[in-house]
Amino acid sequence: MMSKVVVLTGAGGVLCSTLAKALAREGYKVAVLDLRLESALKVADEINAEGGISIGVYANVLEKDSLIQAKKEVNDRFGSCDILINGAGGNHPLGTTSNPHLVEEDLTNKTDGFKTFFDLDPEGIKFTFDLNFIGTLLPTQVFAKDMVGKKGCSILNISSMNAFTPLTKIPAYSGAKAAVSNFTQWLAVHFSKVGIRVNALAPGFFLTDQNRTLLTTENGDLTQRGNTIIEQTPMGKFGEPEDLIGTTLWLCSEGSSFVTGIVVPIDGGFSAFSGV
Ligand code: NAD
Repeated sequence: MMSKVVVLTGAGGVLCSTLAKALAREGYKVAVLDLRLESALKVADEINAEGGISIGVYANVLEKDSLIQAKKEVNDRFGSCDILINGAGGNHPLGTTSNPHLVEEDLTNKTDGFKTFFDLDPEGIKFTFDLNFIGTLLPTQVFAKDMVGKKGCSILNISSMNAFTPLTKIPAYSGAKAAVSNFTQWLAVHFSKVGIRVNALAPGFFLTDQNRTLLTTENGDLTQRGNTIIEQTPMGKFGEPEDLIGTTLWLCSEGSSFVTGIVVPIDGGFSAFSGV
């Protein structure tokens, strides 16, 4: 059997590089796309050194021309795309409030960098919505064309458990991931007649470069927010990137051939727990 071609965006990053390596071990040909070309090339090199088949390709998920160029490279080297994992995403500090709740005194707080809801910069909000939502839509427009009418194709988006219930301080990121979950269902229905399944992962808290300073102090202790998360996570720990592998392999494979339009929480029970 010909090995399938999987394209992952944001795969120079922590979570999707782990998924890229796991898919390569299963025999997929893996195209590692990232805005940071060196990171993409490094991940591809590591996969090839382990005996897998991979290429690192520059792509900006916010620029269609760059994605079309990346697709051409993938098609030339590997053939047409079977699986797309939309992994590029993240938050922006300008879309984040300093505190979880507003109190009256906040309106007169002149501390440098202190931000209430009223200070949120539309540019930070727009950046976050673009990266997570448009950054999922554009690669899908470009790569899913290869999948129409072909058997065994699927798309996996990366939402977040903050899409079910928003997290404090990050309204833009929570809203943008809710849009990704909603879009996953929309696309699943839209593509249902042409053989493309569309699902999403909703990871809970994974300690990565994006959130390390929010969740841990310089000496590695938990911040107040880090502690609150662990208290609210029935399994009592952060996730490890490897915790996403099993669900990813399942949703990319024929083992899930009647599954489309689902968003799977991988969060140690966080989204199931009311706190009481
Ligand atoms: P990461 O920052 O390690 O990886 C993100 C990658 O995306 C980076 O390599 C970055 O260069 C790339 N990227 C950024 N902008 C891009 C663009 N315009 N075009 C192409 N690539 C771009 O982050 P991560 O923790 O591995 O997150 C991966 C996904 O998982 C993201 O969608 C994130 O929102 C989501 N997620 C993460 C967590 C967590 O706890 N880390 C939880 C829930 C969801």
